[in-house]
Amino acid sequence: MKSDCLFCKILAGEIPANRVYEDELSIAFPDINPQAPTHLLIIPKEHIASQAKALVEHKALLGHLMATAAELARIQKLDKGYRVVVNTGDDGGQTVHHLHLHLLGGRPMGWPPG
Ligand code: AMP
Ligand code: ZN
Repeated sequence: MKSDCLFCKILAGEIPANRVYEDELSIAFPDINPQAPTHLLIIPKEHIASQAKALVEHKALLGHLMATAAELARIQKLDKGYRVVVNTGDDGGQTVHHLHLHLLGGRPMGWPPG
């Protein structure tokens, strides 16, 4: 828990979020500013500031988050496809400095991303 971290505050229950999924390592909740009909954030319970700070010891956790995204996409019936995004650092457009996966679906996605 990092006291000035928005997602740590959500994990601690200090800021409300609708936990659509929770397990021992992660939670998922809707993005407050959705960019697609389905837009979930999947975050680890451990505070990791960004993908750029992930270490070899986080390998299993990172795999867990990806597998959770796949499971949530099936539950959300994103049968036509979806996108998993990890914005990283300033150039990556990261605004919340607690590692998170965006699960976006329910509409066609453009490429390249902005
Ligand atoms: P990023 O820009 O990749 O760091 O993503 C951070 C995301 O967190 C943005 O898409 C925001 O809309 C979202 N967000 C910020 N505050 C909240 C909140 N209180 N509950 C849910 N999502 C949030
Ligand atoms: Zn945090």
